[in-house]
Amino acid sequence: MILQGKSRVPVREVVLHCAAIPTGYFDGQRPFQVFATINRWHTERGFTNGFGYHGLFMPDGQFYEGRPFTMIGAHVIGHNSGTLGFLLIESRKITQIGDFDDWFTRQQELSLKARLRVLPGIETVSGHNDYAPKLCPGFKVQTQDWL
Ligand SMILES: [Zn+2]
Repeated sequence: MILQGKSRVPVREVVLHCAAIPTGYFDGQRPFQVFATINRWHTERGFTNGFGYHGLFMPDGQFYEGRPFTMIGAHVIGHNSGTLGFLLIESRKITQIGDFDDWFTRQQELSLKARLRVLPGIETVSGHNDYAPKLCPGFKVQTQDWL
């Protein structure tokens, strides 16, 4: 079980996000560059600890770590404590093949599922749109599709 923050809140849920940027914006960038850009955006928005997610998944499935899992994130108002926030970086390839139903690549799906399998204590996978009137992550997230 992952425990977060000074009060050691058990982490039982992962919340998925998209970057809400034009599709393909990060094409050709290395994971570190994507991290650095979003870290700057979050710092400019006044997030005390910068990058608000616990990690991001590149379109090719590469994972890049963000906040330590034991640190409370800044990704979903009212539900940051006891959750991990993961960001799925949009790919231009998705729109090139004309498949608008998919908001993530097959590689991202496999990579995320593999990571969820080794995270202790996760019972629920949700989307930002379950907690806020937002499109993010662009689709309806259902636990049984991911765990
Ligand atoms: Zn979001």
